[in-house]
Amino acid sequence: MSNPLLIFPFISPPSGGKGTQTQRLSERYQLPRVDMGAMLRSVAASGSPLGERIKGILAEGKLVDTPTVLDTLKEGVNALLAEHQQSGQPPRGLILDGFPRNAAQAEGLDPILADLNARIAAVFYLDVPAEVIIERAANRLMSETSGIVYNLKTKPPKTPGICDVTGEKLIQRADDKPEVVASRLSSFTTETEPILARYEAQGLLKRINGNQPIDTVTDALIAQLEPLLQPVQQPVA
Ligand code: AMP
Repeated sequence: MSNPLLIFPFISPPSGGKGTQTQRLSERYQLPRVDMGAMLRSVAASGSPLGERIKGILAEGKLVDTPTVLDTLKEGVNALLAEHQQSGQPPRGLILDGFPRNAAQAEGLDPILADLNARIAAVFYLDVPAEVIIERAANRLMSETSGIVYNLKTKPPKTPGICDVTGEKLIQRADDKPEVVASRLSSFTTETEPILARYEAQGLLKRINGNQPIDTVTDALIAQLEPLLQPVQQPVA
């Protein structure tokens, strides 16, 4: 049997830095990244009946229902693996950005992983206090087509309001408006935070202080992730 695919879920409060950090790690270690929020935003923009329903949920800052999220996850993972199969280079692992976010999703993940011959290698939790989250969301802008994220204080674009790479006008995510951020924070506290204990009990949780400069957080993540990617030493016969 081949080595199991290593799965690295990333959990943080909204605007906790998951996107920025997982993009960096994905590039550095060639680990494809499944961005649940981006996939749901893309379904929401499709105009389909499912899209319209998801759009309403995102606008309220609530969590999308588990069956829809699990279907979206399976589709996203299968598409990524098919892409990599074509290149003849199966990835060592996958990063899950924003999944799981509650107990039902954590339970739903287990059979999906068994089907894929995959296992969770570590769950990374970026810990950021609520008052910092509110400030970050208020200062966050993004480029809609590329998904590149800026922060007016810590990572401003070179020309105000314009994406450095695509030249398009930057927008504020609809769910970064203060009242929606408050609702997302409340979903995080009631639904997501409780699953940290589950992964802690399994010895999988890596808590990282996410309230530090971006490069410092990246270094802390690298220090935890890199050893997990080393090939397992086979005993000498
Ligand atoms: P994010 O881009 O990770 O901040 O996610 C944006 C929004 O997408 C969240 O506020 C939720 O409404 C929805 N979402 C993302 N991931 C999940 C998930 N695992 N379960 C349910 N809803 C999700």
